[in-house]
Amino acid sequence: MAHNPSTPADRPWPADQLRPCVFLDRDGTVTREAGYINHPFRLELLAGAAGAIRRLNRAGVLAVLVSNQAGVARGYFTIDVLEETFARLRELLARRNAHLDAIYYAPFHPSSADPRWRDDPEELRKPGLGMIRRAQAELPIDMSRSYVVGDRQLDVQFAHRAGLPAVFVKSGYGLGELTYSRATWREEPEHIAEDLPGAVAWILRDLKRRARPTAPSRSNRS
Ligand SMILES: [Mg+2]
Repeated sequence: MAHNPSTPADRPWPADQLRPCVFLDRDGTVTREAGYINHPFRLELLAGAAGAIRRLNRAGVLAVLVSNQAGVARGYFTIDVLEETFARLRELLARRNAHLDAIYYAPFHPSSADPRWRDDPEELRKPGLGMIRRAQAELPIDMSRSYVVGDRQLDVQFAHRAGLPAVFVKSGYGLGELTYSRATWREEPEHIAEDLPGAVAWILRDLKRRARPTAPSRSNRS
């Protein structure tokens, strides 16, 4: 089961079809941080989030949600409610002509009383890399041109474990973590943005910058 996510042997896509990908945290990054969302109607998009995801869609960048949802493990809501909440997220985005290419979530927590949600053999829960491994198996992701965006130090660790740049947003828990906990951070993000629109603007600029061909070295054979 365990394989190096940066070099999966079973990737079915030719190299020229691989696309950059942004792995997006959900709560506090795409949607309002509201604790445990125990009813789909409590889910709200953050201002500008749909437009930012639409920019990724139009740029040909995969937008993949990777979300820890320990509320299931803790018995705060069922997996069905969680699925309905993601269906509502898809609907809210669709109304604004934006879409997620995939949604992955980890309903596990080691403290769960329910063994179904206690053991996480694929290490889906961030900062485990299981969700990225699944995404790589299912989508044509170019890991050398991919990023993680999130509002917590956990997301930064997750990014770096996967070998990806981390963009930290000040929405959700971001501003508080930045203001009061930065001294204890184990890892610094590659970029800090106000919010998801700011993160996406930086990522698209960074992709463009990296795609710029280096000046050709001309051999003068006159
Ligand atoms: Mg979050």
